[in-house]
Amino acid sequence: MSADYRILHERAFVADLHCDTILWMQNGRDISVRNADGHVDIPRLAEGGVNLQVFACFVAPQTPTELCAATIDRRLDVLTSEFAHNSDAIAACTNAAGAEEIVADGRIAAVIGIENGEAIAGSLNNLAHFHGRGVRYMTLTHGVSHDWCISSGDKQPAFRGLTDFGRKVVRRMNELGMIVDVSHISVEAVEEVLEVSRDPVIASHSCAHALCPHNRNLTDDQIKAIADGGGMIGINFCRDFLSAENAAVTEKHFRDHIPELEALDKLTHDEHDKAEFERGREALKPFLKTWAGYYKGVCPSLTDVVDHILHIANVAGADHVGLGSDYDGIFFPPEGLEDCSKMPNVTRELLSRGCPEEDIVKILGGNFMRVFRKVCDR
Ligand SMILES: [Zn+2]
Repeated sequence: MSADYRILHERAFVADLHCDTILWMQNGRDISVRNADGHVDIPRLAEGGVNLQVFACFVAPQTPTELCAATIDRRLDVLTSEFAHNSDAIAACTNAAGAEEIVADGRIAAVIGIENGEAIAGSLNNLAHFHGRGVRYMTLTHGVSHDWCISSGDKQPAFRGLTDFGRKVVRRMNELGMIVDVSHISVEAVEEVLEVSRDPVIASHSCAHALCPHNRNLTDDQIKAIADGGGMIGINFCRDFLSAENAAVTEKHFRDHIPELEALDKLTHDEHDKAEFERGREALKPFLKTWAGYYKGVCPSLTDVVDHILHIANVAGADHVGLGSDYDGIFFPPEGLEDCSKMPNVTRELLSRGCPEEDIVKILGGNFMRVFRKVCDR
């Protein structure tokens, strides 16, 4: 290896475009200390050399409309107060220049995103409200279609990709300076977003369909189209999106364990008290244990993540790929990337595969910063 990977990793601006850590923070995780479980906290971000972390605020599909905006507001309250408590180590930013200042100050820059357009409850005023509270990207759906956008898993879409209102949402995001995130949405919806958006878009946490034909992944044509618009893709560390073999294992496990799956579903909903969250967590333990058992022998690793990165770099160029771990939203990260402290391993693996240093720096965070600056620094 020509250069020491740690020096290169330290020198690079490292950005992770997606984690679901807010769910755990809301239920008591103290991010100021190193936790024995989960994937993201301040000590591990620092150890992993992560300079910018996007915290996605999720609203579960089909949440009653009147509860959607309040759910996001509660999550934003938690983030605001946790960042205030830990202001010596982390601070929220709303543009690339702000992120660079925070990092120059020796702290971690936090960007706030929304996962699932249902959050705005069909209101452009809510969209502006969330922008006002610092939200800088929004994933248009989660795993289920809604009133104005079709999700990637929908086998019987009620309309093509976006409705007229969906197109208005994209235009309004452009006006406000909020990045459109096309992870989770259908092929047609991606096409329509790219037609409408005058700004580059991201897929914050998706992988390459050519390597793993999952509906959450992007085909080579989609990757090229996102790149043509100046956008980029953050590679997801979820096993099911990295390896088709793993997706089959998960599907079988889910089929065999419906009651536990329902507990899991409950756990990801906001409308519970702490006791219910703890009960859900307990109910999940055997589920996770048997799930891990199913995975024996078919475990993706760091090398699979880097395969997906290099595939996108080959198809669209090294300017259009980055990292979107989905930490704390996935249960079983790949070997070698067990939590955010392991991020330097990506740099090591890219170097060992002969990826040029200037490309590695772009992949680790430069590409996201380009889009962040273009959309949000104005
Ligand atoms: Zn997601």
